[in-house]
Amino acid sequence: MSAPAQEFAVVTIFPAMFPGPLGHGVMGKAFERGLLRLDVHDLRRWADPPHRQVDDAPFGGGAGMVMKPEPWFRAVDELRAERPGEPSRVILLDPAGRRFDQRVARELRGAGRLILLCGRYEGVDERVREHLVDDELSVGDYVLTGGELAAMIVIEAVGRLVPGVVGEPESLVRESFEERILDHPHYTRPAEWRGYRVPDVLLSGHHARIERWRRDQALARTRERRPDLLGEDDGTAAAHRAAEDSKR
Ligand code: SAM
Repeated sequence: MSAPAQEFAVVTIFPAMFPGPLGHGVMGKAFERGLLRLDVHDLRRWADPPHRQVDDAPFGGGAGMVMKPEPWFRAVDELRAERPGEPSRVILLDPAGRRFDQRVARELRGAGRLILLCGRYEGVDERVREHLVDDELSVGDYVLTGGELAAMIVIEAVGRLVPGVVGEPESLVRESFEERILDHPHYTRPAEWRGYRVPDVLLSGHHARIERWRRDQALARTRERRPDLLGEDDGTAAAHRAAEDSKR
């Protein structure tokens, strides 16, 4: 079997949470087929015996526990040493990180092995953030109890960009955010359900008109729901494409 196209390593105190949802559907198949590879490591392996404690009280007092730095540094040292010279990126999942989105997913797809560090409790000792990781990612402006679900989101969004993971490559191009506009509406059979009809144009068999309708719908939906995605340039380019389409 050839080398996986994209590798992920996860460090967590709850390795049994994986693969979880990643074991199903197209992602599950991609791991099975060896297109993707996931190694999950228990952080406690790098904690000091006999108690293998990974957290401690915060200096300066206050509520909650903080994850100790030593196990993280040892874990990353060992994982990096496994593949000397190979590109990798060490990512801390953190609500204070840069916002993860489709653009970042694309960037990470080309970054080599992704080593994802999942925090718990009040988070990790600041020295991990300052001196160990290459990147910090947040999956949104809300606080989860741990980084595991966030890591799964990153793995799934990056993994499905690998050629062969998702069946039809065209569907990747057309998806929401890929062109900085939202996806157009989709319909399937039956053509009418409880009096709700599928738009006639989709039943017309006229491909150019269908394309134009989809582009218009996508643009209108983006303007209405996410005008922030239509920056000056992108908006102009998208409007231009729509105008071009309408000439057909
Ligand atoms: N005290 C931290 C704060 O207020 O920012 C929250 C810590 S949270 C309870 C524990 C861990 O969950 C974090 O270290 C991080 O790994 C993960 N986490 C929580 N929310 C996240 C988010 N929005 N994106 C990425 N990771 C998150």
